[in-house]
Amino acid sequence: MAQPDLSIDRVTRSRRNLFASVRLDRLAEYRDDESWVEQALNSNRARFVPLWRNRSLLSVSAEGQTAVYLKPGELDQPDSIQSPTLLGTDGKRYFFAVSINDRQQEQVLASHPEAQFIDLRVASVDMDTKHAGVLAYAKALHYWQYRHAFCGICGSPNKLESAGHKLVCSDPNCGRQSFPRIDPAIIVLVTQGDACLLGRNASWPAKRFSTLAGFVEPGESLEDAVVREVFEEAQVRLKSIVYVSSQPWPFPSSAMCGFYAEAENRESSSTDEMEEIIWLSAAEMTAAILKDEIRLPPPVSIAFQLIADWYQRQCGADLGSLTRKAGGWLGRKGIK
Ligand SMILES: [Zn+2]
Repeated sequence: MAQPDLSIDRVTRSRRNLFASVRLDRLAEYRDDESWVEQALNSNRARFVPLWRNRSLLSVSAEGQTAVYLKPGELDQPDSIQSPTLLGTDGKRYFFAVSINDRQQEQVLASHPEAQFIDLRVASVDMDTKHAGVLAYAKALHYWQYRHAFCGICGSPNKLESAGHKLVCSDPNCGRQSFPRIDPAIIVLVTQGDACLLGRNASWPAKRFSTLAGFVEPGESLEDAVVREVFEEAQVRLKSIVYVSSQPWPFPSSAMCGFYAEAENRESSSTDEMEEIIWLSAAEMTAAILKDEIRLPPPVSIAFQLIADWYQRQCGADLGSLTRKAGGWLGRKGIK
């Protein structure tokens, strides 16, 4: 089968995916050092990543939407809801995720009139990649903290420890510890000869076609999950699979593992999950996009990246440019 571009390694390839492009030193060795955390929190190098009702603070401009961090002094009582969570450092600043209340939200917006609290998933369609990963990291940790407020064994309240990275049952007779969890999912572009397979789920926006994807189940390898999902969604049998890259996907808490897979043949069928399955060569894809017969997922997604890299290998052209020429990611008439 056609190999992915091996001129760059997988670390570099994964870092092209949104949310994976910003790297912090997570300072894991300091999480249990309360005096160090306190000192960092009170230093002028501290930056707060506020979350209000699970929404992230973004400045909105013609260039797109980008993360806004609050400096010390901009946010009174950063621990008004719970203690701040240490995210890490970029070498200059210490980043902390903080939950803020309604009063603090009003204060923040009053001092940042260009900013809004936005659902990161909505924002990510049109997001400046700069620092998107910090927001994703903060959001994923908060999701875990709020959904594990009580011990899964005895039902007592959990308390946050290790600067936000561990929950411990408050009943000393239980003391169960839990750690941030993510849900692995596979996403795969199936190819056969010169064509790739795209599916359409009935709940997606009009004309949207994309790669196949699904959660990894207990007792399954990533590759087993690829084989199962492709058959469940498109009734296609695979003969080989190549891992490509991965992407943190905090909606709510996935790690997307991206693959290419070569099908035995082009026998396929629509299913309960995919109302339509199509095979397209690069030339057919070009025509379908220009005629607005299909709309691909936004470029921030690993799905788009998998398709775009395949397209480039097939015909040497840039799929991002073609899609922009066709009128945008989700459709025409200026709708993004
Ligand atoms: Zn317990």
